[in-house]
Amino acid sequence: MTAAVPLRSIDPITSSAAVRVPFLDLRVTDNDERIEMLEALARVLHHGHILNGPEVAELEAAMAARCGQRYGIGVGSGTDALIIALRALGIGRGHEVIMPALSFVATANAVALVGAKPVFCDIGKDLNINPALIERLITPATKAIMPVHWAGRICDMPIINQIAEGHHLPVIEDASQAFGSSRGGNPAGSFGHIACFSMNPMKTLNALGEAGMIVTDNAALKERCERLRYHGMADKEYCVELSGNHRLDTLQAAFVLVRLKRHNENMRKRRELAHFYNKSLAGTVVCLGEDMNERMAYYTYTIATELRDDLKTHLERDGIESKIHHAVLMPHQQIYQTNTPGKWPCAERMMKRVLCLPLHEKMTMEQAGFVVDSVKRFHAHTSAFK
Ligand SMILES: *Cc1c(COP(=O)(O)O)cnc(C)c1O
Repeated sequence: MTAAVPLRSIDPITSSAAVRVPFLDLRVTDNDERIEMLEALARVLHHGHILNGPEVAELEAAMAARCGQRYGIGVGSGTDALIIALRALGIGRGHEVIMPALSFVATANAVALVGAKPVFCDIGKDLNINPALIERLITPATKAIMPVHWAGRICDMPIINQIAEGHHLPVIEDASQAFGSSRGGNPAGSFGHIACFSMNPMKTLNALGEAGMIVTDNAALKERCERLRYHGMADKEYCVELSGNHRLDTLQAAFVLVRLKRHNENMRKRRELAHFYNKSLAGTVVCLGEDMNERMAYYTYTIATELRDDLKTHLERDGIESKIHHAVLMPHQQIYQTNTPGKWPCAERMMKRVLCLPLHEKMTMEQAGFVVDSVKRFHAHTSAFK
């Protein structure tokens, strides 16, 4: 049996001795946050609306408002959000959806799962879909453009929306990594006809499990999403189209609401760490930070360097966890058999160089300083041998 954990816990962040800077730390170590989580649980236990409880509607309204959209539709995960958004737009067999070659494979899988074909577009140096390459991929079968705000960095949406409008195509934002990010003062989720968020524990706004959200301004789309979220039921009795169960748990909604209250403060901490990295690493490695008109939520902090694999090993020896997002591009996954090397030259080049450094709310400045020192030591050592 494991030892009892006190409800009030103030144990410090203790990572395993070998890991001095973990990539993420999903424990709830802040005592106030822990109490608020337990109170949220107690509220749900008390009101007993375990399914479709008031917390779901509250979170839907709160997230939609933050995105400048009228409606929120809570669902079971970010993947569910994408699948339901696609289906609500009538996308299925025989259709194509244009997306970047670089994303978590869920983006392509959602499209394939509704029976449509993901069409992969190369990315730019910002790691987002390159808008200049979209138009040549549009065919009569194209039914939507699905940009992904990679690492929390917002795509060039004015241009993407202009292309979409020119071809009468809807835009579905995969904003899974970008809750809280904004560009030109406009938040992630405010640009497309419909936008999808994941609140899985790794994301910048997160649950204690799986959770997702769709936001839109369109009442008809909202209604269809609500229907598709639960067995295509038009009301409690009549099933009018085929679907499964993709509902958001009341309990997870309650936990996300607790975290939403803390989101601005968490974003401030993430951005402070990111700015410290930007300043300290400039000239040592390429930092894929934000432009002047952006406020990034920094889902991850990404650097690029020719010596990526050696740097990763070096950091590991210093007890610093880092990650490659993602070594395998979506079109190179075996299920997408569009494996032509050289077709996504920028994505292929960048994926050999990118590395995500640890960055999360629980990280201290001291830990960030330790990461910077390690990167600099590596750089000094390797440039001495050039
Ligand atoms: C996390 C993520 C998803 C999937 O979200 P889940 O909640 O894990 O299903 C989809 N797209 C992107 C870009 C993501 O980062």
